[in-house]
Amino acid sequence: MSKLKVSFEFFPPKTDKMQETLWASIEKLAPLKPEFVSVTYGAGGSTRQRTHDTVARIARETDLPVAAHLTCVAAAREEVDGVLRDYWDAGVRHIVALRGDPPGGPGEPYSPHPGGYANAAELAAGAKGIADFEITVGCYPEKHPDSPTLSADIDLLKEKIDAGATRAITQFFYDNTVYLRYIEAVRKAGVTIPIVPGIMPVTNFKGLRKMADVCGATLPGRLVKLFQNLDEDPATRRLIAATVAAEQCLDLAENGVDHFHFYTLNRDEMAFALCHMLGVRPRVDASASAA
Ligand code: FAD
Repeated sequence: MSKLKVSFEFFPPKTDKMQETLWASIEKLAPLKPEFVSVTYGAGGSTRQRTHDTVARIARETDLPVAAHLTCVAAAREEVDGVLRDYWDAGVRHIVALRGDPPGGPGEPYSPHPGGYANAAELAAGAKGIADFEITVGCYPEKHPDSPTLSADIDLLKEKIDAGATRAITQFFYDNTVYLRYIEAVRKAGVTIPIVPGIMPVTNFKGLRKMADVCGATLPGRLVKLFQNLDEDPATRRLIAATVAAEQCLDLAENGVDHFHFYTLNRDEMAFALCHMLGVRPRVDASASAA
């Protein structure tokens, strides 16, 4: 197995307790030398300040390359541009540029803010106009629910690349053949940038079911069966979730995937264990191992 790359996604914590959990996770995961870590942006811009504060603190207090998620929702261009300038001034050089979900939640019709960026491609171009940010975008192996077809969806991915994106991270998926078929389709369409699988270990199956519904992600029958009758049994669920995620990652690695993006939900245990299994481990001090 060649050297694999990993990245970790966090969300901005709401309380002091959540803040502690996040920072303990960052400390545990940092020695794995991730390609980058990223911090999400709450629906409708609801976490603008918290996302900024978390990203800025990671930039200030760690040597981890950090990316800030940013969406177009409910904000005029000038406001979004202001956020981008603040990031650049805080030393942040990487933006995960997203359209965002409609303020009424995914599944509702999306209408852009009248004076705002209409979609992720426009936002990526806007960010590039402000400074030479590295741009990552989202992509959808099962197509975005708003897209009429997969090929229309891939055309939009190409627009995002033309606007400056150099990497895409996928929506979560649990059937690797869906991802591998998607890779084939995007390569055929001339897309050459890395398409990094977004790995979401199943921690809360009930919640995941709801999310998958609105995101248009399929939960394979096998997965549904595995979590049957376990709603009240978190310990067994956790063990099964780890097994499922490990199988998924090892199979992807065997199929040539060399970068994994983990949706950590701010917890280190699962991501750390999966990295360990993939051979991504803290660098051991040579003198210590010789002793
Ligand atoms: P876009 O690529 O701009 O567009 C999505 C879809 O909208 C297109 O596929 C198409 O169907 C339609 N569309 C867009 N432009 C046009 C057009 N010109 N003509 C016709 N149709 C069009 N959400 C958050 O709120 N905060 C986050 O931090 C966040 N992080 C995410 C991270 C990843 C890796 C992923 C995959 C998603 C994330 N999301 C986040 C969710 C994301 O905001 C939603 O999936 C949203 O609905 C689409 O965002 P996008 O950037 O993919 O949109």
